[in-house]
Amino acid sequence: MKGLWLLLLLVAASSAQRLFVGDQVIRVNAQTEEELRLLQALEAQQEWELDFWLHPVSTELPVDIRVPRSSLTSVKGYLHGHNIPFTVMINNLQELLDEERVEMEENQKKERSTRSLNFGAYHNLDTIYSWMDTLVAQHPNLVTKEEIGRSYENRPMYVLKFSTGGYNRPAIWIDTGIHSREWVSQATGVWTANKIATDYGTDASVTSLLNNMDIYMLILANPDGYVYTHTNDRMWRKTRSKVSGSICRGVDPNRNWDAGFGGPGASANPCSDSYHGPSAHSEIEVKNVVDLIKRHGNFKSFISVHAYSQLLMYPYGYTCNKVPDQLELVRKEKLKRRAAAQKLTSLYGTSYKVGNICNIIYQASGGSIDWSYNAGIKYSFAFELRDTGRYGFILPAGQIIPTASETWLALKHIMEYVRDHPY
Ligand SMILES: [Zn+2]
Repeated sequence: MKGLWLLLLLVAASSAQRLFVGDQVIRVNAQTEEELRLLQALEAQQEWELDFWLHPVSTELPVDIRVPRSSLTSVKGYLHGHNIPFTVMINNLQELLDEERVEMEENQKKERSTRSLNFGAYHNLDTIYSWMDTLVAQHPNLVTKEEIGRSYENRPMYVLKFSTGGYNRPAIWIDTGIHSREWVSQATGVWTANKIATDYGTDASVTSLLNNMDIYMLILANPDGYVYTHTNDRMWRKTRSKVSGSICRGVDPNRNWDAGFGGPGASANPCSDSYHGPSAHSEIEVKNVVDLIKRHGNFKSFISVHAYSQLLMYPYGYTCNKVPDQLELVRKEKLKRRAAAQKLTSLYGTSYKVGNICNIIYQASGGSIDWSYNAGIKYSFAFELRDTGRYGFILPAGQIIPTASETWLALKHIMEYVRDHPY
């Protein structure tokens, strides 16, 4: 075992992979506003290089922090010193990453011999892109692959379009992986695309949906970031664009939309993981989507899929004011959202919270579904998939298919609602 560990270290070192040996993810449940304030002070402190997986925003929600090994003593000292209890969720992050890597390599071997994609495994960009061609070839009358533009590093951005014909039919948008390290999101996208394609013609609901509407899926919404999580830094969240005047790279593509841009819950510091960027839509990956949605003009639903925390959310994030809708509409909408989450829970009992972004997680400006909502797409939603923090971003591949299967029930419910409530 020790030999394998060493070998892995060598392999990782030779491929310039960032290592997280001895890094821990700790959880704090802030009990008071004072504790929350102390955690926020910790977040502002840059010297310890902390990575907040869940930010300190409310006493209702846990705070998860990846602490580099070199800062463990200082951070734990800080928490002890202020009498703030914490628990260790992940004892050595590198161990989980090694397991993930070994599993991926074994899976690749298997896939090469069987020549088929295992939906219960994580894949790199090249594998996902070539699988898209397979899906199109298998369902030529339903699925097309369209390039909507290029990423900052000049990778094509592909949407899968599911359509049975008609001209510019009302459409549903689903994107996954805008934050690159949230791997279960992209993997759920792959599974879902396959599900839609294979259910058409056999499942009455999907069939009637696609006889009336189109579905667009952008599975790798942040292709450069995704590649970077495979080649260099598994914990990378942002785009890979160069920021002038800074040594840090990348913009948080979910703080970059023209919706309360630059407001609370986004950072002006290019080294922050929630850096909003120099201007709204500065990120080409965001702009490509904005251009497509505007050009199309007939999207009725916009769904963005993240991980983790198990939440189903709706606008707004940039303000805590309620969306400007009639009271009656709000009441109906609420019923629908709860029903979507209940459908999801019905499969494995996975519990979800439902609410608007600002109240359920935190005030976050420049998010995609706030933009889509303001652009007139009433049915705008964001998911945070599994889990609630046991593994966080390193969700074991064994949970991909259960996660995708339960999420599908909620997605399907939303899509049926959109189909049956045209506007
Ligand atoms: Zn995210």
